[in-house]
Amino acid sequence: MSDVQQLYRLQEIDSEIQEKKKRLGDVLNAQRETEALIAARQRAETAAAELLSWRTQLTDMNLELQSLTNKAKRSENRLYSGKVANPKELTDLQNEIESLGRRRSGMEDEVLEAMIMIEEAEAEKKAADEAFAQSKEAWESSQAHLREEQVELALRLRDLAELRQEQLPMISASALKDYSAISKRRGSTTVVFLRGNICQGCRLNVSAQTVKKVQQGKLLFCDQCGRILTLSK
Ligand SMILES: [Zn+2]
Repeated sequence: MSDVQQLYRLQEIDSEIQEKKKRLGDVLNAQRETEALIAARQRAETAAAELLSWRTQLTDMNLELQSLTNKAKRSENRLYSGKVANPKELTDLQNEIESLGRRRSGMEDEVLEAMIMIEEAEAEKKAADEAFAQSKEAWESSQAHLREEQVELALRLRDLAELRQEQLPMISASALKDYSAISKRRGSTTVVFLRGNICQGCRLNVSAQTVKKVQQGKLLFCDQCGRILTLSK
């Protein structure tokens, strides 16, 4: 195999390396959580916090209500015990019982409101949890696929690196130097086919002299774009 053909082989390896690295980048990017998944988790967390907050408030209200009930009961017991003769104390007790009754009634309204809020918060949490679970399942099923592809790409890139190392000694130092100089200038396509007298890299004519030398298997550059010309792989 001529230098040019070996260079062509190297180019095939290099372009596959480039292509696989690009795909690996895309695959890694796609494994980040989507905005939809992040938003769904956020909604579920907010709903859970909201529900917990209302439940805590309700517990506090019920304790407060219990304490008001106990107080009122003690005052009522005292009022109806027959042991209190002092009219001032009797009036005070009655006033206190009334005041406690008003506070209890206010607190009962608050408890009812909290219970309604809890029902709403429970419904929202259920909906948010379901939406999050759905979002997560969709994301995870796509992830399994991506992880598989990531492993395949990594393995192929490792093989390609080995192939490249094996390919380098097949090529003369000067041809390698030309190759890397052109690929820096021209990107991944460095070795191109010559069809008739037309360079397939730039689609322009090359001289008959160049065509002849390429046919002899020499390493020649396109007169127009400077790429290395080859007739076959
Ligand atoms: Zn050309």
